[in-house]
Amino acid sequence: SKGAALVTAVAQRLASQKQKVDETLSLFRLSYQQLQVVKARMRAGMEAGLRREGRSELKMLPSFVYNSPDGTEHGKYLAFDLRGTNFKALLVNFKNGLQKAELYNKIYTIPPEMMQGPGAELFDHIAECVSDFLDYMGIKNLGLPAGFIFPFPCKQTAIDAGTLVCWTKGFKTTDCEGHDVVKMLQEAIKRRKEFELDITALVNDTVGTMMSCAYEDPQCEVGLIVGAGSNVCYMEELRNIETEQRDGNEEGGTDGAKTTGVAEVERMCINTEWGGLGEAGSLDDIITPSDVEVDQNSVNPEKQRFEKLTSGMYLGEVVRHTLLDLTRQGLLFRGRVTDALKTPGIIQTKYLSQIERDRLALLQVRSILQRLGLDSTCDDSIIVKEVCGAVSHRAAQLCGAGISAVIDKIRENRGLDHFDVTVGVEGKLYKLHPHFSRVLQETVRVLSPQCRVTFLPSEEGRMKGAALITAGVRQMKM
Ligand code: BGC
Repeated sequence: SKGAALVTAVAQRLASQKQKVDETLSLFRLSYQQLQVVKARMRAGMEAGLRREGRSELKMLPSFVYNSPDGTEHGKYLAFDLRGTNFKALLVNFKNGLQKAELYNKIYTIPPEMMQGPGAELFDHIAECVSDFLDYMGIKNLGLPAGFIFPFPCKQTAIDAGTLVCWTKGFKTTDCEGHDVVKMLQEAIKRRKEFELDITALVNDTVGTMMSCAYEDPQCEVGLIVGAGSNVCYMEELRNIETEQRDGNEEGGTDGAKTTGVAEVERMCINTEWGGLGEAGSLDDIITPSDVEVDQNSVNPEKQRFEKLTSGMYLGEVVRHTLLDLTRQGLLFRGRVTDALKTPGIIQTKYLSQIERDRLALLQVRSILQRLGLDSTCDDSIIVKEVCGAVSHRAAQLCGAGISAVIDKIRENRGLDHFDVTVGVEGKLYKLHPHFSRVLQETVRVLSPQCRVTFLPSEEGRMKGAALITAGVRQMKM
């Protein structure tokens, strides 16, 4: 009968639609073999980055941090942290370490236009925030030592000096790349002719995170951030850091023992800048058309390819481009490409976290989409949820493959068959997403069977870590 034919036709159409959606999403699904390959490439990038000659996708930047905090930290220290849209200031009063320390902090806004304007303006603004904080705390003339967290790739030549290699995470402030960021901040402070600031340590956010977690757990030798950006640091053997093996014995390098005052220094924390993996094409075989769109429309095309697959700043955009693709194929939103769907940044990663919550009814997914201006049917909501899941699952697996490369390297460095290690973690994607941390941990377990890994979430630890590093440097010098 006619009715039956119609039902069959509709069923066939739905089946073929589902198949087409699956085809698109299958590009995001990585097999065990593919994850092994990513792990191997990450490892190769690490090895290449540690060598003096040749180029590498991973910058493997020396941090000039050699030791874990030892609990003898005493006195008042400052820490400053330039984040994306804000700047945070912290005063810590250590009383034999962190346990009974007193902490005071304040958050300042960074106007978005400063992420694109001249460097001097950005640093003048930071100096103003610093000035306000010192006034607020009544410590302007104490000349307290400060740690400066600058969460971008910096080529350090000492614990308190480093040039910005390149901006990431949407910043494109001018006249900063290639300049020493500690000097830039000091000059901005000098321009105010008001107070002096002793910047004792320049610290990457991963290193700050690792140090604060190492305080709680001495087995913590890796620091992971999966927030707006994505990056890892870990403890490497000094003998493997060719870039720091200087014959002439300038500052830093293997004479690090001198810098720290410790007789035998064996290891240094390396900021891998793993976000750069793929810049020379090593991820081309897993990159999807949506990833290409996200990259091409970013402020730093061709750069930070791994970061663009794994961090909060980009996942929503990967989802949006995939939804656009499915809509253009007529598989979603009745084939209508609306202005909302064309708006960059409309799907923030926090919505991914909400949409993917297990027990969220489809009606709620619909209402989230509705609020974003994306009118959807129930079927649409199912597909959107699937897309979000595919994108965040891949991100977690890739981070897992990366961590697995890092911890197996540490294990092999030490000639161990079995290795217990703790990874200190910070970042909203890790903390707030309903599945990310679990998938990441499972991936590490499968890819690194000889390691037992504990993930230690850090509560805003990076700044405490920076203060601990500052105290460490200070107390050694004294
Ligand atoms: C930066 C890293 C930083 C990471 C996490 C990346 O974009 O290049 O230096 O550690 O973001 O904030």
